[in-house]
Amino acid sequence: MAGDEHVIAVDTLTSFIGSIFRHAGVESEEAARIARYLVSANLTGHDSHGVIRTPRYVQQFKDGLVLGGQTISIVAESPTHAVVEGHYGFGQTIAPQAVDLGIAKARKGGLAAIALRHAGHIGRIGDWAERAAEAGLISIHFVNVEKGELVAPYGGVDRRFSTNPVCIGIPTTGSRPMLLLDMATSLVAEGKVLVASNGGKPVPGDALVAPDGSVSGDPTVLYGPLTPGGPRNAGGGEGALRAFGEHKGSGLAFMCEILAGVLTGGGTSGPIPGGKRGQIGNGMLAIYIDPASFAAKDFVAEAHEYAAYVHASRPQHAGERVLVPGEKEAMTRAHRLAHGVPLQAQTWAALCATATSVGAPIP
Ligand code: NAD
Repeated sequence: MAGDEHVIAVDTLTSFIGSIFRHAGVESEEAARIARYLVSANLTGHDSHGVIRTPRYVQQFKDGLVLGGQTISIVAESPTHAVVEGHYGFGQTIAPQAVDLGIAKARKGGLAAIALRHAGHIGRIGDWAERAAEAGLISIHFVNVEKGELVAPYGGVDRRFSTNPVCIGIPTTGSRPMLLLDMATSLVAEGKVLVASNGGKPVPGDALVAPDGSVSGDPTVLYGPLTPGGPRNAGGGEGALRAFGEHKGSGLAFMCEILAGVLTGGGTSGPIPGGKRGQIGNGMLAIYIDPASFAAKDFVAEAHEYAAYVHASRPQHAGERVLVPGEKEAMTRAHRLAHGVPLQAQTWAALCATATSVGAPIP
């Protein structure tokens, strides 16, 4: 323990989380996969999409809102595209299947678009861009959360979007760092409010908007009154998250709803009459590009040369460095692999409570 943080080695944490899912009734290979991807989010510093999600995932599994052992099915396809049904399987199982289909099609056609609908929560989108990049492909991802509205549009107060991430990954070779933009279109991801509500890093004072239109950094605006370590219900508060970048970020969030919600057939974040209460699904329109099929002579080398040039911009503030997308995550991963993953005391307590509830041993 360090202060109110619990630092836990990566392998111990991964097997603990896998064991929780196994004891909850998830088949062992899938349980291990869910654990690996949740811990991967923690490793990159995105604690909001890491193991903190375990209690919520276990509850959704118990409630039949997310299903184990699912396989994607293809609703429509051509050599360069597919519409894919995720059957509300765990996102950590469904997303890699959809990505692999995109990789296979892009390798043949140079370009492919995969419209995934009804996946369980697919977590950190960077994991899926990294999977494509490892196969040598560029990928562009637009994501929404069906029935998951949390974010007010620019100039509005009522929730109309989910946190709608956009992600772009660029392949790499050898020891060169991955170039990866992976960002929610809300000013902060909902999970960051979740982390703040558990005593973690506070969110900026303008991340949320209260029903009276005033801006706020108080998690109760989203969740309503908080019980320590208790579950957080984003339907409990009267306010909303704010989109990043004023009208421009709000516009990008809007287009994620259209591409990942409407085009995939998964639905927008808005409440849908008759929908199964609490069942939320991720939609993702992903475009895979094989750079070998395009004109750039040596795409990976030129992209990294340009990244080095951006990097070399003189810092605005003495002692700080200019970073390119993905660099912060790579540094955090290296540090946490060596030193362990820090978890807030309340997050650790919630994991232990979930473990106890399913009969999993606590390390
Ligand atoms: P963030 O704000 O921490 O980072 C966004 C991007 O900015 C990253 O690409 C990062 O490399 C880059 N960056 C960070 N600091 C930088 C700096 N100093 N200089 C230059 N670039 C920098 O990320 P976020 O918006 O909070 O998103 C968190 C995670 O939540 C993402 O992994 C996202 O995929 C995930 N998410 C998932 C869902 C879902 O429904 N599955 C919804 C929302 C968000």
